[in-house]
Amino acid sequence: MTSTNSTGSKQFDALGLKKIINGRSWVTILGGSRMPEEVQDAMTDAANTFIDFHELNKRAGTLIAEYTGAEAGLVVAGASAGLLVQAAACMAGSDPDRILQLPDTNGMKDEILIFENHRFGFEICYRTAGATLKEWGKDEGTLAEQLEVAIDEKTAAVTYVFGPWMDCALTLREVVAIAHAKDVPVIVDAAAMLPPADNLTKYVAEGADLVTFSGGKGLRGPQSTGILAGRADLVEAARLNMSPHASVGRGSKVAKEEIAAVLVALKRFVSMDHEAEWATWRGWSETITASGRSFDGLRPVIEDGDPNRQGPTAVFYFDERWDGPSSKEIQANLAAGNPSIHVGVGNYGDELYVSPVALESGEAETVAEALRAAFS
Ligand SMILES: *Cc1c(COP(=O)(O)O)cnc(C)c1O
Repeated sequence: MTSTNSTGSKQFDALGLKKIINGRSWVTILGGSRMPEEVQDAMTDAANTFIDFHELNKRAGTLIAEYTGAEAGLVVAGASAGLLVQAAACMAGSDPDRILQLPDTNGMKDEILIFENHRFGFEICYRTAGATLKEWGKDEGTLAEQLEVAIDEKTAAVTYVFGPWMDCALTLREVVAIAHAKDVPVIVDAAAMLPPADNLTKYVAEGADLVTFSGGKGLRGPQSTGILAGRADLVEAARLNMSPHASVGRGSKVAKEEIAAVLVALKRFVSMDHEAEWATWRGWSETITASGRSFDGLRPVIEDGDPNRQGPTAVFYFDERWDGPSSKEIQANLAAGNPSIHVGVGNYGDELYVSPVALESGEAETVAEALRAAFS
């Protein structure tokens, strides 16, 4: 039993940390996600033993290939490391001298083309490997024409990023067709695109050469893991550009127990009842939106299936009749409370939202109660 003020962890209690209710989804800054029991068990099971690490990586890769429909797979140290080794693989390949040379790219193709609306903070992971980002999509002509002329003899890869508010009028298939016609690989960041489970195979089927997903978001594996899937030669190059090899990816280490755990998380994820989970999330969002009914100037809704939202999300829109605290003030007050409740604000406008995906049973009621008090 834990007291109401306990974080739920003896270790974190001993460090004096505060309990947090996470209404912001699987964000790294609050600790990623929760590992289900079988995933935790796999971690403990594998932690106190030795194996041949190269063999482990290869066997894990075979399983990832099966789950994703790709030629090959690899466990990486988060989707961030996935991006780093995507870039390294496309620049250095499996050439031992080039692998040791990175991040110095002298003599290699080293530009990654990125669509103007896909620019994002994580592109630093590509640059860490030595790549230079080259933006396309703001010049004259159709997007297809712009991409075609942007590809030149320095292009190592074209990236395609999936994420909230990052849409591109060209589909992944269209980008793949243009890039492949010039023999250039397409690398995909799909870090937060699970669930739905279909996405595990979708981007590979659409022709992406390398796709990376976070292991510690919707998959609910260790936060420090990710998976990479794609073309066999490029996955092999990625493996050689990563720990345990001396390479630009040596600092991106995944431990054996993390590999064991993310494979169990993957297996659980593909066989679980996603509809039932979604229904549970929706129920929690109904509880939460009910807290915002009958206030002037406040409109609570559930946004279900919105690609910019994580799960069926409880959203509160404020209009000009609202004379209470701003969404940012409510957010700050809830985070300062005990338990500390973290909610999101302002992606579409001046709204407040609660994603149910990282909540657990009983927390929706606590969030609803706190919100009702904040709105009153
Ligand atoms: C979360 C995220 C990442 C980083 O993933 P990690 O697994 O935390 O390293 C990269 N790209 C996008 C779009 C993300 O949402």
